[in-house]
Amino acid sequence: MDGVIAPSADRVREDLAALARLTDSAQPGWTRTALSEPDVAGRESVLARMREVGLDARIDPAGNVIGVRRGARGGRMLMTGSHTDTVPSGGRFDGMVGVVGALEVVRAFDEAGIRLDHDLVVVDFFGEEPNRFGLSCVGSRALTGVFDTAMLDVLDEEGRSFGDALAAVGIDPATMMASTWPWDRVDAFIELHIEQGPMLEHAGTSIGLVSSITGISRFRALFGGRRDHAGTTGMDRRADAGCAAAGTVLAVERIARSGPDGAKGTTGGVTFTPAAVNVVTEAAEMRGEFRSIDDEWLRTAEETLASCAAEESAGRGVTVEMEWLPQAPRRLDGSVTEMCRRAVDDLGLSRAELFSGAEHDAAFIAARSPTAMLFVPSVGGRSHCPEEWTELDDVIDGIRALAESLRRADAVRR
Ligand SMILES: [Zn+2]
Repeated sequence: MDGVIAPSADRVREDLAALARLTDSAQPGWTRTALSEPDVAGRESVLARMREVGLDARIDPAGNVIGVRRGARGGRMLMTGSHTDTVPSGGRFDGMVGVVGALEVVRAFDEAGIRLDHDLVVVDFFGEEPNRFGLSCVGSRALTGVFDTAMLDVLDEEGRSFGDALAAVGIDPATMMASTWPWDRVDAFIELHIEQGPMLEHAGTSIGLVSSITGISRFRALFGGRRDHAGTTGMDRRADAGCAAAGTVLAVERIARSGPDGAKGTTGGVTFTPAAVNVVTEAAEMRGEFRSIDDEWLRTAEETLASCAAEESAGRGVTVEMEWLPQAPRRLDGSVTEMCRRAVDDLGLSRAELFSGAEHDAAFIAARSPTAMLFVPSVGGRSHCPEEWTELDDVIDGIRALAESLRRADAVRR
């Protein structure tokens, strides 16, 4: 192919460092959670960078930062991007690599004199990480028209609604759904992201081609027992909601351990009421999740856990109610992934196929448009922590792979 793409390591390092400076300094690591001041500043800085590299850029009604590089033919679009929000005390690469990488692709295309036929759309999706209202991928849900407006009434611990929290950062909840994208004009979406796991590093591989994104079944279980004096109530006369919850925590681990390859089960929190050493627990709330790319197993795991929770409760005279929020696994597009595979081979980079155990905006986009994901290695497999790191050389290889994949997608006539 003509036009040699040469991403600049200096520019990429500088862009990543500029985002890293926009953090809540009261927290260890890097904290730019959605709905916070640093996140507003982060998305404003991405908007400014998009304009600097010549994109026609704006922030849409759902808080997504969207920049367009016009194509020679126009009308049809290719899309790339990721997110710049973080978990509390997270790192400097999760999401950022896909946004900074997309901007560098634009600069490298310009320098190489490459004009695509398609419009190239770069997106920094709003609120990818789970926020304090328990919702993730807010921007990509709105862009794909699946944002559940009932979420706007969910309250945080201070009794403030999600809708009010959005309004406070300049997002009008009433017009959010106006950001739904014309997906019938998008021929491919390709997201560059860090692996967040150890497989690429272990195998000494540069690029991961993602076959599927995990399904996630999140649950909330409420156990109801009886409050009693811990010193005078015999062990055979108690209805201890805490013990029923504890038994269910271990069931989550047991079920996931006996699941298929890659299955995960995690209890993310348990609260006892009252939380007093001399009172038998009256109520316990437990939150957790199962993950797998096998949807059938997820349904089985849900049923098995529900019956374990019922058993742990019934034997103790405790009641239990469970709520599930399932999200199906998503297979990514074979033909776009094949274009990425050829691009990686042409560049002489090593590759491996893997599935993503983490959630991504790409899972939502994949429901509307042919979608692929490229992973670059995470040192030590660490992520969602301050130690999260990806070597700059690996980021650059990922950007080269993204650029070549987009050029291949551009060459497909529809
Ligand atoms: Zn991410």
